[in-house]
Amino acid sequence: MALVMTQFEQCDDLCIHQGTFQTRGCEKRETSSHKIGCQARFKLVCKREKNALVITQANIVHSHSLVQQEACHYSDDRIPSVEERDEVAKLVQLGVPASKIQDHMSQTSGKAFKRVDIHNIASRVKQNQQSVEADTWAVLQKMTQADAGSHFSILIAENSTVDLIFFQTSNMRRFLQSYPSVIFMDGTYCINNLGYPVYVFMCVDGDLKGHVVAYAIVRDETKVTLAHLLEQFVSKNNVEVDTFVVDKDAAEIAAIKQVMPGVKILLCRFHVASTFKDATNKYCNRSEKTEAHSLLMKMLYSDSEETFFSCLQALPLNFKTYINKNWLTIKQSWAQHETKHLTTWGSFTNNVVERHNRMLKTISHHNKSLPALLKALIALNDSETRKQLHKLYELNLKVRPTFVKAPMHLASIVGDMAKVVTPAAVAMLKKQIEELAKVEDQIMLCETGFSIVDAHQQVKMYSLEDGNCNCLFHLNRGLPCWHMMAVRLKTGMSLFSLEEVPPRWLLKNLMNCLSTVIVNGDIGNWEVVQASKVVVESCVDSDVVVESCVDSDVAVESVVDSDVAVESCVDSDVAVESCVDTEVVVESVVDSDVAVESCVDTEVVVESVVDSDVAVESCVDSEVVVESVVDSEVVVESCVDSEVVVESGVDSEVVVESGVDSEVVVESGRQ
Ligand SMILES: [Zn+2]
Ligand SMILES: [Zn+2]
Repeated sequence: MALVMTQFEQCDDLCIHQGTFQTRGCEKRETSSHKIGCQARFKLVCKREKNALVITQANIVHSHSLVQQEACHYSDDRIPSVEERDEVAKLVQLGVPASKIQDHMSQTSGKAFKRVDIHNIASRVKQNQQSVEADTWAVLQKMTQADAGSHFSILIAENSTVDLIFFQTSNMRRFLQSYPSVIFMDGTYCINNLGYPVYVFMCVDGDLKGHVVAYAIVRDETKVTLAHLLEQFVSKNNVEVDTFVVDKDAAEIAAIKQVMPGVKILLCRFHVASTFKDATNKYCNRSEKTEAHSLLMKMLYSDSEETFFSCLQALPLNFKTYINKNWLTIKQSWAQHETKHLTTWGSFTNNVVERHNRMLKTISHHNKSLPALLKALIALNDSETRKQLHKLYELNLKVRPTFVKAPMHLASIVGDMAKVVTPAAVAMLKKQIEELAKVEDQIMLCETGFSIVDAHQQVKMYSLEDGNCNCLFHLNRGLPCWHMMAVRLKTGMSLFSLEEVPPRWLLKNLMNCLSTVIVNGDIGNWEVVQASKVVVESCVDSDVVVESCVDSDVAVESVVDSDVAVESCVDSDVAVESCVDTEVVVESVVDSDVAVESCVDTEVVVESVVDSDVAVESCVDSEVVVESVVDSEVVVESCVDSEVVVESGVDSEVVVESGVDSEVVVESGRQ
C-alpha cells in the first residue's frame, strides 16, 4: 500500500479481492478473476491539527486466505524487475527451456512467474536479437565493401544464437603476415550489452609496437567455443605461429593444444608472478612467506633445470604440493630455463594486449550494442592505419641521431645499423656496443671463447659455440650480443652483418608493412577564381595557398608536411582529408562547408566563420581551432589524442562525439 498523504486528505484502501468481475461481451469461457467480493477495507484521514493519520474505518476480516504463495500470483506482483528481465533474456539466449527458466526465476525472485511471462520476455528478446543480428551483419558487410582485404565470419549455434564473430581488416592481416611468429591473446569483458567477451589477437612489430591482428566476440569462454575461434584464426590465415602468449587459463590452453598442437604456449610472466604472490600468501605461514616467494621467483627466472628443482625441493611441504599439482606439468610455459628457447623476440608478458584492452574500455562500455561495438573497433583500426602513415613518414624522412657511449670505431657501427634495422633494434644493439666498449681493452681470446680480466685481477670466462652465444639477449632477440662482437673484434671480423639479422628487425620489412599509402608529387602556389573546383592532392613538403574563393570546391587530400591556407571563401566547400603533419588554415569563411577528415598530427585553424558548417572527423593527434564562429554548426567526431578549441561562437551549434584522450574547449559560446 503506497500512500502519498501530502496529496490526499483521506484514503480508502480496499482489498484487491473487493467487488465482482464483470465480463465484457458474451463469452462462454470461464474467466478466472480475483474479484470475489471481499469486504476488507480501511479508511485513513489526514488530521492536520494533530499532524497524524487517523484510521476512521476498518474491516480487517478477509473472505479468503492470506498466504504469501497466493498473494504472489497477482499480475502486479509478477512484473519482473529490470535485472530479472535481463536474467531471463540471458537464459533464453543460452537456450534454457522456458519451464526451467520459470522454475529458476520463481525460486530466486519469490515471484510466481507464469510460463506466459517468460514467453513474453523471450519473444521480445528474439525480436531484438534478430535486429541486432541484421545490424551486426550490415556493419561487417560494410567493412568488407570499404576494405577489400578484410573478412569476417559469424558462427551461429544450434539454438540460433550467435556463437562467435571473427573479423580481420586488411591492415590486421598484413601485420599478421609480416609478424606471425608470436601471437598475444587475451579476452576483455564488459564492453557490450550482451556480456560477450571480446578476444584480441595481437602481434609485436619490428619496432616493438603492438598491432591487433584479429578481433573476436564470443558467447562464452568454454574450450569448445575457444577452439572454434582458433579454427577461424588458423583457417583464415595461412601463417606459421611459433608461440602463443596467454594468461593462465585452462580452457584457452586446452583449445590451443587441440587446434594448434605444434604451437608452444608461453604464460604471461607478469601473471605468473602475481599468482605466485597470491599463492604464497594463501599457502605459507608468516615465517615461511618471504623465503618461499624468493624460491618461486628463482624458479620463474631459473637458469637451469638443477636450480629449478633444488628451489622446488626447498619449498614448505604443503606449498610444494600445490606447485607440483598446478604448475609443474606446465613448467615449459613459464620457467625461464625452458622458455628462453621459445620464440618470443624478448616479449615475456601479455602487456601489449592488456594495454590495448584497457584502451578498449574507453571506446566501449557495458551498454554498447554489438553492432556499435563492432563499428567502434573498425573505426579504431582505421585510425591505427592512419597513424602508421605518420610512422612511415617518420622512419622515412627524419634523421634519428643517437648518442653512443663508445669510441668512434665502435660508435660508427651503430650509425650503419640504423640504416638497416628498426629504431628498437638499434637501441638494443647500441646497448651491446656500449657494453663491449667498457671492456674492449680487457678481452683475451681463448679456445672456447674469451675471458676478461678486470681491475682487481678477477677473471671471467665467456664461452661461445661456433661463434654463437647462449646468453638471453642473443637467444631471445636473435641479434648479435656483445660477447659475439667481442670475439669478432679480436679476430678482425666485422662486428655486424645484415645476413645475420632476423627479418623481423629489418627496417625495410617494417616500412613495407606500414606503407598502406604511398605519397608523392609536388605542387606550387594556387590562386583561385570563381566557381572552380580546386583539388590539392598528394603534396609533400609544399606550401599551398588558396585565396578568394567564391562558390568553389576546395579539396585538400593526402598532404604531408605542408602548409595549406584557404582564405576568404564564400559559399564554398572545403574538404581537408588525410593530411599528415600539415598546417591548414581556413580563414574568413562565409556560408561554406568545411570538412576536416582523417588528419594525423595536423594543425587546423578555421577562423572568422559565418553561417558555415564545420565538421571535424577522425583526427589523430591533431589540434583543431575554430574561431569567431557566427550562426554556424560545428561537429567534432571520433578524434583521438586531439585538441579541439571552438571560440567566440554566436548562435552556433557545437556537437562533440567520441573523443578519445582529447581536449575539447568551447569558449565564449552565446545562445
Ligand atoms: Zn481480501
Ligand atoms: Zn651473448
